[in-house]
Amino acid sequence: MHEIPAGTRLPDPLTPVRDITHRHFRAGDRIAIIRGTVRGQLWGDCLHVVAPSWHTPTDEDGWRLRDPDGGELSYITAHPRHLVHLDRRCADCLIHLRALAGHLLPRVPGLQALDAGWYSLTPLHQLVHVGDR
Ligand SMILES: [Zn+2]
Repeated sequence: MHEIPAGTRLPDPLTPVRDITHRHFRAGDRIAIIRGTVRGQLWGDCLHVVAPSWHTPTDEDGWRLRDPDGGELSYITAHPRHLVHLDRRCADCLIHLRALAGHLLPRVPGLQALDAGWYSLTPLHQLVHVGDR
């Protein structure tokens, strides 16, 4: 089977152009940040939306998020377009998830697990997507 070497970055043309407002999310929402694939499905981190918070890397309104399993990295700040709802049947987020799946899954063979390398954290725990500016 053709394998993608670890550390390979795949492009994400979808998240940077996603049209989603800050108000789409609320404190208490459960969300995911999609990072790649595992066993032929999208894979990511599951977090809780805590409170509005300035997203310094984009100079726009973001959200403070809590990772229940995060340890020292329990709290991060992300831009709304990084987030997809998990617990609401939300058309906006489902459309984005389907688009990400359609883009990513055909590029990753079989059952391979891959972190697409889209996200990094600043020293102040602000989440940055490779397409953020
Ligand atoms: Zn949503």
